[in-house]
Amino acid sequence: MQKGKIGVTTENIFPIIKKFLYSDHEIFLRELISNAVDATQKLKAMSSAGDFKGDMGDLTIRVAVDKKKKTIKVSDYGIGMTSEELDKYLNQIAFSSANDFLDKYKDQTNNLIGHFGLGFYSSFMVSDKVEVISKSWQDGAQAVKWICDGSPEFTIEEVERESRGTDVILHIDKDSKEFLEDSRIEQLLKKYCKFLPIEIAFGKEQEWKDGKYVDTGKDKIINNTKPAWTLKPSDLKDEDYQKFYRELYPAGDEPLFNIHLNVDYPFKLTGILYFPKIKNNIEIQKNKIQLYCNQVFVTDSVEGIVPEFLTLLHGVLDSPDIPLNVSRSYLQSDSNVKKISGHITKKVADRLNEIFKNNREEFEKKWDNLKLFIEFGMITEEKFYEKASKFALLKNTDDKYFTFDEYEKLIKETQTDKNKILIYLYSTNKTDQYTYIDKAKTKGYDVLLLDGQLDVHMINHLETKFKESRFVRVDSDVIDKLIIKDESRESKLTDEQKQDLRSVFNVKVKTKEIYNVVFEALDENEAPVIITQSEFMRRMKDMSQLGGGMNFYGELPDSYNLVVNPNHHLVLKISEDLQAAEGAKLTDNNKERTRLKEEIDFMEKEHKKRKEEEITQLEKDDLEKLRKELSDIENARKDVLENYGAGNKMVKQLIDLALLANNMLRGEDLSTFVKRSVELL
Ligand code: ADP
Repeated sequence: MQKGKIGVTTENIFPIIKKFLYSDHEIFLRELISNAVDATQKLKAMSSAGDFKGDMGDLTIRVAVDKKKKTIKVSDYGIGMTSEELDKYLNQIAFSSANDFLDKYKDQTNNLIGHFGLGFYSSFMVSDKVEVISKSWQDGAQAVKWICDGSPEFTIEEVERESRGTDVILHIDKDSKEFLEDSRIEQLLKKYCKFLPIEIAFGKEQEWKDGKYVDTGKDKIINNTKPAWTLKPSDLKDEDYQKFYRELYPAGDEPLFNIHLNVDYPFKLTGILYFPKIKNNIEIQKNKIQLYCNQVFVTDSVEGIVPEFLTLLHGVLDSPDIPLNVSRSYLQSDSNVKKISGHITKKVADRLNEIFKNNREEFEKKWDNLKLFIEFGMITEEKFYEKASKFALLKNTDDKYFTFDEYEKLIKETQTDKNKILIYLYSTNKTDQYTYIDKAKTKGYDVLLLDGQLDVHMINHLETKFKESRFVRVDSDVIDKLIIKDESRESKLTDEQKQDLRSVFNVKVKTKEIYNVVFEALDENEAPVIITQSEFMRRMKDMSQLGGGMNFYGELPDSYNLVVNPNHHLVLKISEDLQAAEGAKLTDNNKERTRLKEEIDFMEKEHKKRKEEEITQLEKDDLEKLRKELSDIENARKDVLENYGAGNKMVKQLIDLALLANNMLRGEDLSTFVKRSVELL
């Protein structure tokens, strides 16, 4: 028997390994099985190169738990190790690499992706003693056993072992008893080893016999050694991709389509990405991509490896070129990772473009489910925008789809305003904004439907991209002002009459919202009263709701314009009725007002001729008194007008009709409206 001391630099490396990565102790199994797979693949490689001439036999890797002895055993039939190799690989190389690893990453270990690089020594995270029994593939090799109890001391002795290969036996410590449960080990195998290239057996297949499940003689293989992403795309049919998707996400919705990645140079990358249907709520879709390294599962969070919008995709990426023993924050600056992420972005864009080009009909059908993903990418990744702007679609309120170019051509003639700005009209809700959409269409305009989760951002983004263009929501102004052309219309009411009507229409409709009465000389066939909300205000409020940091706008009450059409016969009628009912009062008020104004005017002029100190206090007081009288007279006029408005059913009816057309008349207001309508009939 040989005794020795591992080439340690610190005596206390084992306690560190044990404590370290506390939450991730489970990776020991992945590390041991990876080694077993490597050893088996080396044998296969030697066999096909003719260096190994014997019979390879059954290469299945076996995992066994012995609850009584408190051991876990991983056995392979790979190349095995000679006594010298054991000493070299386990005592020197493996140990020093574990040592290096710990030294480097002691402080940031929880950040490391899957804690790669710890290798064989990670078994000490869960064991107080580890035995390795190994027999090399070489003819006449002597089997040897290596034992280490977690101190730097180890022993190597000669033993009997029938076949070539290696057993690693872990004596599980008392803090790690969970790993002696079959169910726990099975769970870990399913998590980390599901797609390893060598068959892994754990337990036996069971069958139903005499009222209970019993073991059959058949090994239970837990992995699929040839997952779809490792096969040639030409060998796979649509069904195969679907089937593999099911394997990854048994409960997932059918994906829309997939991309098979296969790069050899300048980095190695394989994988299959699926486009899931994304209707709304992007958050819940994120982080379903699984990252593998040579078929060994590493993590299901690819954050930092691919651009954020790609984390909405599903599927598998496998690359030995993604450095896994560095922290995530470091990853983003790694040049290989940058190249890989750039490549994936390009591939995704190319694939979408290909589907768009080859089968536009299909692409349009899928658009509603793709839109969120594509918009996310376009907003956040400039490179993706460049490509996607060729195939991204705009859908109008008639459910027709257009590319950006096609749509620009469509509206260029009709929707360019007098300042040569192209106005994109849009609606966020076809039902609520029906009357406005209808008016715009009657006028020969086209209206887009932008009702998606990211559309508010998308609109802002497109305005920075499209030259001399603006997006305007269809209900943000009266039809004539949505797209201002050179034509202007006369108003049938004088400014004085409009001034009076402004107070008449200034009826408190609701408490929370603010209504601002304005006049627009519209066609006499247009509605008498229309409610609009300024594009700017609404957008600011939308942005603040999405957390754009514009809280100031979010807290403002909603403010609307109550647009009165002075050319509509009902508005003219109200003006006439007002004259008939309050004409005398208003004329008197007007006379008084004119008189006061003239007097004030005169006095102000007189005062201006002199120096400030030459004006007596008496004179100043007189002017002040007149001003006060004028303001009283004006308020009195306003009272008369507002009272008239408040008592006028027609005024209320017109306002309510406008609110109703906007879906803004609710609750008590609505029932008052209904009652009043019946009375008026
Ligand atoms: P790594 O696998 O990263 O090289 P490890 O510490 O896991 O580091 O293993 C060190 C070395 O020990 C391996 O490179 C390999 O040569 C040898 N080794 C480990 N496990 C086995 C095994 N089951 N069969 C044959 N050789 C093995």
